[in-house]
Amino acid sequence: MNANLSLAALRDSLSHSDRMPLVFLGHGSPMNAIEDTAYSRAWSSLGRALPRPQAILVVSAHWMTRGTTLVNVSARPRTIHDFHGFPNALFQQRYPAPGDPALAREVVTLLASHHAQDDDTWGLDHGAWTVLKFLYPDADVPVFQVSIDMTRGLAYQLEIGQILSELRDRGVLILGSGNVVHNLRAVQWEPNSRPHDFAQEFDTLFARKLTDRDFAALSDREQLGSLLKMAHPTVDHYLPALTVAGASDARDDLTFMTDSIDLASISMRSFVFHAR
Ligand code: ZN
Repeated sequence: MNANLSLAALRDSLSHSDRMPLVFLGHGSPMNAIEDTAYSRAWSSLGRALPRPQAILVVSAHWMTRGTTLVNVSARPRTIHDFHGFPNALFQQRYPAPGDPALAREVVTLLASHHAQDDDTWGLDHGAWTVLKFLYPDADVPVFQVSIDMTRGLAYQLEIGQILSELRDRGVLILGSGNVVHNLRAVQWEPNSRPHDFAQEFDTLFARKLTDRDFAALSDREQLGSLLKMAHPTVDHYLPALTVAGASDARDDLTFMTDSIDLASISMRSFVFHAR
């Protein structure tokens, strides 16, 4: 797929709707934040195509909670460097966007049925800031994170997305950040490694079911079986994709971007739902 061509079409489509699009980005390595890669360039292009939101709600693979869905209500969310063994330049990165405490508190109320609580300790983890840096480089759009509850099933994240979808009509950009396939144990470090069969298979299945809006299939652990376990030994990088899917509806078009598989087991597939 030619990312530039589809982004041009996307920009045209986005100019016709007041309903905010939904974005899921495969974030991959934190190094994308400080390197000029095909991904960081695609995120910059996407940022130029997207309308300017009133606020951004981020669901990142890296904020995992148990038994609760936390919503960060900080006025000035801190930049969290939640990784080890990377160069100093990465630890010096800051994304100083303001938070949106009032909207974040509304989201706590919206998600009351899903055990939401407010939180003032988190900020922006690398799932959020390494991509936001390219989408909105001026860090001038208010942003806040919502956690993923690791004790619930996959369908729970679809429900959360569905509840959050009304925010799209209020200028809120919902951004999921994870990876469609994420198995660090199966990573091959040799450059240009061929993707593992399971990685290719899950990535293709995901794209097909997402296109068909067969979200029941994407959230059925039994049906996905061992393929899911190979693609996601833990589902933290998968759940944000389900939140985004859950916030979409049949009126949306779907555009894929950066659909390559890195290091044999990390899918960088990203996608945008946008109202027709
Ligand atoms: Zn990650």
